[in-house]
Amino acid sequence: MVFRSASIALIVAIGMATVAHGQQDSEPPYQDADGEEIFGPGYQPQSAPEKGLPLYIGRPNAGMSAPDSLLLLPQDSFRPMSETWSLPAEERRRQLPSDVPLLRDVRRGFETWQMPRLTPNRRVPTAPVAPTAEMKVHYVYVGQGAGAIVELPCGVAAVDFGGEFGGGSGSVDGGALFVAYLKTFMEQHPAYANKIDVVYLSHPHADHINGAKQLRESGISIEKIVDNGQTSNAGSVGKQTEFRNWATQGDLKHRYSAVELARQVTATGATNAAIDPFSCATVTAFWGGANEKLSIPSYSNPNNHSVVLRFDFGQASFLFMGDLEADAAKDMLDQFDENTEVFDADVLQLAHHGAANGIDDSLLKVVSPRIAIISMGDRTSKGQKSAWGHGHPRLESLSILQDDPITVGDMRSPSQTFWGYPDEEVPTKDFTVNRAIYGTGWEGTIIVTATQSGQYTVAAGRGH
Ligand SMILES: [Zn+2]
Repeated sequence: MVFRSASIALIVAIGMATVAHGQQDSEPPYQDADGEEIFGPGYQPQSAPEKGLPLYIGRPNAGMSAPDSLLLLPQDSFRPMSETWSLPAEERRRQLPSDVPLLRDVRRGFETWQMPRLTPNRRVPTAPVAPTAEMKVHYVYVGQGAGAIVELPCGVAAVDFGGEFGGGSGSVDGGALFVAYLKTFMEQHPAYANKIDVVYLSHPHADHINGAKQLRESGISIEKIVDNGQTSNAGSVGKQTEFRNWATQGDLKHRYSAVELARQVTATGATNAAIDPFSCATVTAFWGGANEKLSIPSYSNPNNHSVVLRFDFGQASFLFMGDLEADAAKDMLDQFDENTEVFDADVLQLAHHGAANGIDDSLLKVVSPRIAIISMGDRTSKGQKSAWGHGHPRLESLSILQDDPITVGDMRSPSQTFWGYPDEEVPTKDFTVNRAIYGTGWEGTIIVTATQSGQYTVAAGRGH
């Protein structure tokens, strides 16, 4: 009897611990005025102790004129040697491959130029698989949040796996919606053998990561994982750390890549065999954990540590911005100021669900998308963490996309009347869309199909 009572006491204690953990989930350690989890004292991210595969120079839009010998040099070879040039101009010309667009940092690093070491970790993109081959991106309806499936003839990837959470009338479990869609997708595509080649996590806010539990229990295996490298034992960064360790089963060295700003030094982005395991596409990362900027107030928000990704498939290109806000988007553009065309992509997943602070004119002009996708919730949910609670998408953002200045190239015919928010927690106002702007909260899951010659078709899955 004594033993049995002790067991019950233990079970009760475990139950309470679980409840306490659940409460911690719904109330992150630090929040900004909008209730968004931010970094605060005692909850600062660390860099990943094991950063996984070394980063190599990216080759967005495979037409970039960098020689393969240079692409095979790890980014670490280009660490700046000094703040200023010490070599005479003639010496510089002799040593630098003139056709490679590089940042100043990299040019400094060329003082230590050595012959490239070849490595099997870096796959140079191969020729197109077939002229008729297609890729598809499924921007899955997950309520207020984001989760996408990238379907390639040579593999499959997920970009974020989260969605709405937090209760309130009409709210949905976005993480569960994403994983349910993914499971159905895998059933319909047995060639992928229930395996995702790489999962990219833009940043660990709950609306991007909260399908983690369902994904772990789904029976779908994950080959590689890419995140912003931030590590903690608290808050959502702790969840990212935990998921990374689970997905790689501790094999971080071979199956993981941290995308940290401090490790990227070129103007053509970064890649490696985890970021780009595909033979039929090219994947490049441009931004990620920016821990060295944490003393700047806007970087207390994990949004500004989002991994930014570009997929090139023949002539087709897709850009994923995570939740990067305008301040960080400007910093990113500065980082690539000698070569901003690396952001010139056809299909753009708008940053931060179409929030007012997610739209940066200068970046939009550089991207000049043909098609813009907004991953956001519908307007029936009135939870605190819903599209209504955050005011996503904001009318002023929609206006920037198609009115002044016009930044989305393709037309939408016939035009359709949807809605946007003038502010948080207020009724929507109608917005007539005449450019190729699509929203998951308006139309449900959106599937963009691209051919290698850069032809696009857009299909919306579920009405709202
Ligand atoms: Zn988000």
